[in-house]
Amino acid sequence: MILSAPSGCGKTTIVDRLLKRHPDWERSVSVTTRSSRGSEKEGQDYFFVTAKAFRDMEAKGDLLESAKVFDHYYGTPKSFVLQRIKEGKVLMLAIDVQGTRNILKSLGQKLSIASIFVLPPSLKVLRERLEGRKTDTPEDIDRRISMAQEEIKLARIYDCTVMNQTLEHTVIEVENFLEKFQRERRKSSHAIHTT
Ligand code: 5GP
Repeated sequence: MILSAPSGCGKTTIVDRLLKRHPDWERSVSVTTRSSRGSEKEGQDYFFVTAKAFRDMEAKGDLLESAKVFDHYYGTPKSFVLQRIKEGKVLMLAIDVQGTRNILKSLGQKLSIASIFVLPPSLKVLRERLEGRKTDTPEDIDRRISMAQEEIKLARIYDCTVMNQTLEHTVIEVENFLEKFQRERRKSSHAIHTT
């Protein structure tokens, strides 16, 4: 499952809550060249690497996709994701729109990957949340807001969009969507096997 949301939309909290409710689900841990923020932990939130280490991983083909977001590089480790898919696990990838496009392009034909875009209730609320985080400069916040506007325009490439009004409601909507997605996938693979 790919879950995207503009920065500050509560994506990490949503993923954390889903993992609490579904201990058998997993989160894909991305590699990034940005430094750790606040309480973020190495190997849990991200693998924090140097620009050189990132380039080496890219050159070796270790990344399923990579993208530059706000001056830093982010990438999805390939072997981890492919292994979990092989095991039939529900894996959550919290990546941006560019990464989603690339993964759907490269794997979307072979695998059915559910994609969800989380919308902020409004840009005003998003700005308030970003300001409340106290981790970004006013210029960074302006950049994140205009990036959010661009990303929202591309939300139509996702299977489902959910407006994050309250955490509880969003989590239930994501679960309901995924359940429906899996039911339909089972139905269509059954149809393929019986025709
Ligand atoms: P942040 O620095 O706020 O954690 O993340 C910035 C943006 O990068 C978010 O939109 C996040 O979803 C995206 N991102 C995180 N990991 C990856 C990744 O592996 N690939 C891509 N394409 N985007 C990522």
